[in-house]
Amino acid sequence: MLASTATVTVPGTLRDKLEAIAAAGFKGVEIFEQDFIAHDGGPREVGRMVRDHGLEIVLFQPFRDFEGLPEPHRRRAFARAERKFDLMAELGTRDILICSSVHPEALGGIDRMADDFAALGEIAAPRGIRLGYEALAWGRHVFDHRDAWEVVRRADHPNVGLILDSFHTLARRIDPNTIRRIPGDKIFFVQLADAPAIEMDLLYWSRHFRNMPGEGDLDVRGFMRAVAATGYRGPVSLEIFNDQFRGGSARGVAQDGYRSVMALMDDVRRAEPEIALALPEFPARDAVDGVEFLEFAARGADAETLEAQFAALGFARTARHRHRALTVWQQGDIRLLVNRSRSDFAGSAYSTHGTSVCDIGLRVSDAPAVAARAAALGSAPYDQPRTADELPIPAIRGLGGSLLHFLDAGSGLTDVWSVEFEALDPADAGVGLRRIDHLAQTMSYDAMLSWTLFYQALFPMQKTPMVDVIDPDGLVRSQALETADKGLRITLNGAETHRTLAGNFLADSFGASVQHVAFACDDIFATAERLAARGFEALPLSANYYDDLAARFDLDPDHLARIQAANILYDADAGGAFHQLYARPFGSGMFFEIVQRDPGYGGYGGPNAPFRIAAQKRLLRHASVPRA
Ligand code: MG
Ligand code: MG
Repeated sequence: MLASTATVTVPGTLRDKLEAIAAAGFKGVEIFEQDFIAHDGGPREVGRMVRDHGLEIVLFQPFRDFEGLPEPHRRRAFARAERKFDLMAELGTRDILICSSVHPEALGGIDRMADDFAALGEIAAPRGIRLGYEALAWGRHVFDHRDAWEVVRRADHPNVGLILDSFHTLARRIDPNTIRRIPGDKIFFVQLADAPAIEMDLLYWSRHFRNMPGEGDLDVRGFMRAVAATGYRGPVSLEIFNDQFRGGSARGVAQDGYRSVMALMDDVRRAEPEIALALPEFPARDAVDGVEFLEFAARGADAETLEAQFAALGFARTARHRHRALTVWQQGDIRLLVNRSRSDFAGSAYSTHGTSVCDIGLRVSDAPAVAARAAALGSAPYDQPRTADELPIPAIRGLGGSLLHFLDAGSGLTDVWSVEFEALDPADAGVGLRRIDHLAQTMSYDAMLSWTLFYQALFPMQKTPMVDVIDPDGLVRSQALETADKGLRITLNGAETHRTLAGNFLADSFGASVQHVAFACDDIFATAERLAARGFEALPLSANYYDDLAARFDLDPDHLARIQAANILYDADAGGAFHQLYARPFGSGMFFEIVQRDPGYGGYGGPNAPFRIAAQKRLLRHASVPRA
């Protein structure tokens, strides 16, 4: 399988695009004509530049409004095609994409169109050129790959074949399994794009909202499984028109593209084991058991503040690293680390972001397999110098340049706590916090698709529908990702303006990072009491909130009085109830949350978020002092 992308997928100049495409790992590239025209070098130079990057031009596209025209338009269309054949010879490419006509005078007629293709095939053949016909979802007469295939079938010419594009098939809700009855050798090329499920004009949807396979809601996997079943073994190429990508970084978009193609083809290989796909072997998604540790970078007074928070929440200092300025705080199954180092990764993370989560350790069943999968999907391993007695725990870069470590019992990596740390006396019974319920990561809205893809490609995580969270000063979009057994839950919060709580955090901490951590307990009233006894100060909520709660839910008055007295928030869905208690924000707006979740409750207290955010902002405003 040759992984390819159209130049239009990646932002920048043609040179930027090719550099990023090659660096990401692609071997093929479609030259989108507009990118060629905008370039200031001729076709031979472009062909050379592509090959110098180790890439092959697998397609020249698009050629529009060709088939089924009356004279004199027909003659002109043939003349236009011949000029493009000349250009293709200079570029050094064999295949051209001809998309179904939208010409207002196109006559249609399957045989007329087939005859045009057969005639152009005769002109193309001696030049070694192949014509691929693609049904645009908004084509004038042909807008379904089944009709495009009928044109190709009747053209009956070896140099005329079909081009399939997942967007055009799936946007029209055409069953992709109809592809299974097309012979694979007549499919000349396959383009892939996903898209969010939104009702809008097909052309506008396609030009602005396409995204990488796995980032949207279309069944690209089902489409590709059907394509693979035909015996097609040609290039698999991304053709993505997306406003955010156009404004993004070339390297980032190309890397995401490569990750999405590899993860998709791996899924296809596993779903269709009878089909031999030429794809490098790499491990399937490994089970994630949960968060083994969360490491915070902090120093000086900031580290004292953070540790005071931990102590107030009932965490006990249980261990310290034998060589590094690293302490472990524990309660239940939760391990929080504070790294005061100046020299190692945490040192640079603190210098850049201030107090922040610089490292997340995930407990998996096979750490080397997760690392191998990450590498196959384009994540470079992260290596930090270590002493001989430190364990080689595999890591990659995660959100905002932070680290993601993988630990398993089988490789002995979860022994790290006894191997690298010395135990301290844990003289604290805690307040009943059991485990991490979820991590909330804040990022710019533009980065959300990328991180959704990152987690879904690497881990067996599903996304839940995106939720709009109303901040008094703007909108924040929230997307949850969860493993099937809910051992790992991450919410991604995308901020568009610096004035929201999330956006302000993003600006103040100089980049995307974990903004809040939610700890699960079994009895939130007992936990709240023990917290109060320690002088814990909950986030105060308005009386209006509790009046509204009484109106929205059929709550027992005693229950309502108890939750109001403890500043607890409440939500429920068909599966059960959810209680939330928030600590006061600190630093640049980081905070801790305590939750009690009925097993059937599937959410994150989204309906409470606007009131919680307003309360947090009130506190931050009152506490605000001129900053140095
Ligand atoms: Mg296309
Ligand atoms: Mg939360």
